[in-house]
Amino acid sequence: MSDNLDFNEFHWLLAIVQSIDVGVVVLDRQYRVQVWNTFMENRSGRPPNEVHQQSFFSLFPEVDQEWFRHKVESVITLGTPAFTIWEQRPYLVRFKNYQPITGQEEFMFQNTTMLPLQATNSAIEHICLIIYDVTNVAVNKQQLQTVNLQLQQLSRTDRLTGLSNRGYWEECLKHEYARHRRYQSSAALVMFDIDHFKKVNDTYGHPAGDQVIQACAEVVREQVRDTDYAGRYGGEEFVILLPDIDSAGAGLFAERLRKRIEALLVTYEGQTIPFTVSLGVADLSLPTEQYQQLIERADQALYASKKGGRNQVSFYTG
Ligand code: GH3
Ligand code: MG
Ligand code: MG
Repeated sequence: MSDNLDFNEFHWLLAIVQSIDVGVVVLDRQYRVQVWNTFMENRSGRPPNEVHQQSFFSLFPEVDQEWFRHKVESVITLGTPAFTIWEQRPYLVRFKNYQPITGQEEFMFQNTTMLPLQATNSAIEHICLIIYDVTNVAVNKQQLQTVNLQLQQLSRTDRLTGLSNRGYWEECLKHEYARHRRYQSSAALVMFDIDHFKKVNDTYGHPAGDQVIQACAEVVREQVRDTDYAGRYGGEEFVILLPDIDSAGAGLFAERLRKRIEALLVTYEGQTIPFTVSLGVADLSLPTEQYQQLIERADQALYASKKGGRNQVSFYTG
């Protein structure tokens, strides 16, 4: 502001600062409040005469003093503004949220600008805080992120079983395969298919068939570790990628699955449905060029199990 600023202009500026819909606070070097506009008064419930010369930290004990002082000191030393955004810190000062559409949030999200104020003698003895209410933007963005996450989850999941769907499972396999190539780690693929499933559908009906598929998925879920990738590959075909396991370990896992599924008692409308599965195991101990080969090999081993009489585990041996 120049010294010869028209008094009217000064009056207008004051009116603007008062009525603007952002918080304006001026602090001196001792962090005492010098200016406090209407936004601040309304949101804090404290009039300017009550807070004048009060320490900012006693007014807002929630402010991280060390961080804030550091920030302000650098604004003063460098003579350049600094910013904080809600994504780094949800707010500078804790105000209640009064916005009706975002009523579920209890506090106001804020972006803050810290401006160095140069006196007429060029010394910076004050800083101005400009506090923006960005609750709407923050809540919308957070909701969008939540919905995106749910959509991503949906797009990766098989509806009937809750396991990964084929597309996502293949992505995981691709990723694991690349990891194996890089670190020469081991991994195995177990693929299985329900035996004579057509007959299950024909005899007990399609909904009963669905229940059988779900029961198999449940056994898979019980048996896998957090680091395994289980998916529904097709109608009644499942795949489980087991990282960091050798062929023998994968064989034990497959045999355990086979036995558990054989022992399952799925009842539909009072009838118990007997069923079994055939399994194929392939692992990365034999050289491969691309990840698809692992699927082809597990599928070939699975075919051998079908041919060998079903309800059994076979290995791809090359
Ligand atoms: P195999 O022992 O040789 O595997 O014989 P299969 O009868 O199980 O094999 P096939 O592949 O001929 O039959 C699979 C059947 O699975 C055909 C299809 O109608 C049924 N199916 C595929 N998806 C679903 C599903 O989501 N629910 C139900 N109930 N049936 C399905
Ligand atoms: Mg089948
Ligand atoms: Mg099949």
